[in-house]
Amino acid sequence: MPTKTHVKKVQLELTSNMNQERGSRKGHQEGWQWRGNARALAKKNRAKRKHFGIDDDNEFETKTQKEFVISREKTGSEVGIVASANAGRFHVFFKGKYIDCALDSELPFVLGHRIVVGDYVTVKQTSGGLVIDHLVERKTALSRLRRDSTHWGDISARNEQIIVANIDTAVIVAAIMNPPFHPKFIDRYLVLVQHGGIKPIICLNKCDLLNERSEILAYYQKLGIQVIRTSAEKSIGIEELKQAIRGQSAVLVGHSGVGKSSLINRITPVADLRVGTTTKKTGKGRHTTTSSELLIWEANSYIIDTPGIRSLGMWDIARENLQLYFDDIDRLAVECTFADCLHDNTAPELCGVIRAMQQGSLPLQRYESYIKILREL
Ligand code: GDP
Ligand code: ZN
Repeated sequence: MPTKTHVKKVQLELTSNMNQERGSRKGHQEGWQWRGNARALAKKNRAKRKHFGIDDDNEFETKTQKEFVISREKTGSEVGIVASANAGRFHVFFKGKYIDCALDSELPFVLGHRIVVGDYVTVKQTSGGLVIDHLVERKTALSRLRRDSTHWGDISARNEQIIVANIDTAVIVAAIMNPPFHPKFIDRYLVLVQHGGIKPIICLNKCDLLNERSEILAYYQKLGIQVIRTSAEKSIGIEELKQAIRGQSAVLVGHSGVGKSSLINRITPVADLRVGTTTKKTGKGRHTTTSSELLIWEANSYIIDTPGIRSLGMWDIARENLQLYFDDIDRLAVECTFADCLHDNTAPELCGVIRAMQQGSLPLQRYESYIKILREL
C-alpha cells in the first residue's frame, strides 16, 4: 500500500513526452509515430490535462485531487485495474482475481466519479469492505464530448466524458460489406483514436464475403497503420489480430454490425473470463451491454468492450490541429503558402494539400474526410 510519501503530485506535463514514450515502446508500436508540430502538441497537451478530471481554474479542487493521483512510476503490486464501473461500485482485477470495491470516503467526489474502466487504482481494506483509495495517472484516455442538454450547442456548456483509460491499441473494425465499406468512417475513427493518444490498427472483417479493397488498405499501410483482414465467421486472421494486441489493453471500435462482438467472442473463447454478472454469453451472439467492461483473454492482455464509443461523433479538437491526425495532409501542408492554411479551398492555388489532391497523390476520400470533420469543428 503506498504511503503518503508515495503519493506524488500529478505530472501535468506527462503527455509532453508521450510521443517519445510511444515511439520507444516495444516492437508492436513500431511504424506508428506522432508527427505533430510543437505548438499544436502543446495545445493538445493542455486539452489532455482534462483527462485527469483536473480543472486548472479551480485551485482548491486541483490541489485536493492531485493528492489522490499516483505517479505511474511509483506504483507497485498493490495496483489493480478497473474492469467495470456501475453506480459507485467497481469490479477491480487485483492480484489475479476480481474483487468488488466501493470508493474510499476520503477520495474527492469529483475524482471518484471519474474513475473509468481501464483505470489503474490502489485498493485498501476497511471495516466496511474493500475500497479504491487512489487513482494512478492515466497514460491514454478515450473520451467523448458531452453537451449539457439545456444548452445544446453552447460551447461553454460542453464537457468531456472519459469512456475508457489506458488503452494501448484501438482496433478500428470495418466490414468489407454488410454494412457497406466506407473508408470515411475509418478516417473518423482514426482522428478519435489518435486524439486519445492511442495507437490505431485497422481490421477489415467479413473478408470471407469478398476479396477487395486492396488499394485503400495499402494506402493506410503506407501511412504506417497495421491492417489486418479477418473473418470472425470463418476464423481467418484471428491469430494475427491476437498477435497485434497481445500483452496490451485494446479496444474495438467501429459501426454496429461490422462484427466487433463476433471478433471478441473469437478472441475470448472462455465465457467465464467475462467480468461481472450483468453479461452472459448467449449461444452465438453476445448479450448487449450498456456499459464498458474489461475482459482478460490472456495474461496481461485485455480487451475492453465499449458500447459507448461505437458511434462517437463529437469532437474536441481545435480546427488548426485537425491535420495532426491526418498524417498525409500534415506532411503535404509544408507546401502551403500560408502556415495557418486550413486547406479548405479558401485559396486553392496557394494550398499544397489541394494541389496534391488534384494531382492524385492524396486520395480524394482522405481530403473529403478531412474537410467534413473540419466543418463540424
Ligand atoms: P457488432 O455490432 O459490430 O458487434 O457486430 P456482430 O458481431 O454482432 O455481427 C453482426 C453480424 O455480422 C452478425 O450477424 C454476425 O454473424 C455477422 N458477422 C460477424 N463477423 C462476420 C464475418 O467475418 N463474416 C460474415 N459473413 N459475417 C459476420
Ligand atoms: Zn493548405
